[in-house]
Amino acid sequence: MDEDLVKLVKEHTFGTWKVQKTWNPLNVDKAEGVYFYANGKKILDFSSQLVNVNLGYGNKEVIKSIEDQLENLQYISPAFATEVRARAVKSLLEVMPSNLTKFFFSTSGTEANEAAIKIARFYKSPSYKILSRYRSYHGSTLGSLALTGDYRRWYAEPNVAPGVVKIPEPYCYRCPFKLKYPECNLACVNYVDYVIKNEGNVAGVIVEPITGTNGVIVPPKEYLPTLRKITRENDVLLITDEVMTGWGRVGEWFAVNLWGVQPDILTTAKGASASYVPIGITAVSKEIADFFEDKMFAHGHTFEAHPVSLSAIPAVIEEYKRMNLLAHVKAMGSYLGERLKELKERHKSIGDVRGVGLFWAIEFVKDEKQTPFGTYEDKYEGRVTEVDILAKKLLDEGVYVFNGPSWLVISPPLIIKKEEIDEGIEKLDEKIKYLDEK
Ligand code: PLP
Repeated sequence: MDEDLVKLVKEHTFGTWKVQKTWNPLNVDKAEGVYFYANGKKILDFSSQLVNVNLGYGNKEVIKSIEDQLENLQYISPAFATEVRARAVKSLLEVMPSNLTKFFFSTSGTEANEAAIKIARFYKSPSYKILSRYRSYHGSTLGSLALTGDYRRWYAEPNVAPGVVKIPEPYCYRCPFKLKYPECNLACVNYVDYVIKNEGNVAGVIVEPITGTNGVIVPPKEYLPTLRKITRENDVLLITDEVMTGWGRVGEWFAVNLWGVQPDILTTAKGASASYVPIGITAVSKEIADFFEDKMFAHGHTFEAHPVSLSAIPAVIEEYKRMNLLAHVKAMGSYLGERLKELKERHKSIGDVRGVGLFWAIEFVKDEKQTPFGTYEDKYEGRVTEVDILAKKLLDEGVYVFNGPSWLVISPPLIIKKEEIDEGIEKLDEKIKYLDEK
């Protein structure tokens, strides 16, 4: 049966972001805590899948809340008010940056960003340009894909990005300006001021406060506050995409809290339901909310504000509080960081280790010139990189890690314990030798 099952899945569904013929999915039928079972084998989830299974697997409280909602009211059009929607809002108002007071509920991070673009353009009309970074991921539908950096991702949509202008990233390990922090005086963010002034018609700037998929790039501490200042001075919106960084991942409810920044729009998804159900949230400031008072909000989906999706939000927030997860993430995060830095001392193939909370990357390099083991070009041309091979070796060894062409993203469920971190680190230590020998 297992073989038939995998064959059916492989032949008749798309393996996304995969070369179809080389996609060989394992059959996962069970998961618990920080582990899942693939082809019957127990695997430590060292990345929370795609940095989204924040509460791990099998949380009874969240499941109960969803089940109760299903029993009570499985669906009603978003035009109606529901108790679950009111409860979701009430709990969100407790954890969101305090200036964000109105929410649009969808079912993914991608849709959250689509809504953000429309809202920003409507609010700032006739300005329409959105600045986003070259190294970024904001989703794969047309609008969010346009925001997403790396033109190789647009392969089937060459005309996807009118009105989107790209800006450089605060990637100190490979500075786009070839400068060193702090002597650089934050050239990357000061350049944004120049772009806004010279482009004209800029409605907003969207950034992941910490770049996620593209290698967990933590900016210098001045970056986001400076970007906030620049966007204010130029009267353009700051949109922070917290699809990955939100919900305790960095030891705060949202990454903007790390630097005391209040964005005009914040998008989020993944951890908002801890991935028990699909959810996307676009949160906007009171000023933007007021603007729409006498205008039609011309946007929406059938599954918008879906009662079952919404039922997870208050339950998840309760669980975070009950388990004191923000403090746990801070403690486990500094332990994980230390252990990863130890690995860097021992392995010559590790070029950089960076992160905060339970959100880390190990970037691998071939030599002292920081030559990567692979690039997105390799991925799009269907080449397997050495880091793909390393990730596969880890999986065979019982550790799942989400990887880029030359880095691993280490972002375990927030409930992880010290001994589970040790288990992952030991296997990493053993398997990274493969790259040291390359
Ligand atoms: N924005 C960021 C920062 C992401 O990391 C992702 C997904 O990884 C998205 C948006 C897209 O979210 P989704 O896959 O839920 O559509």
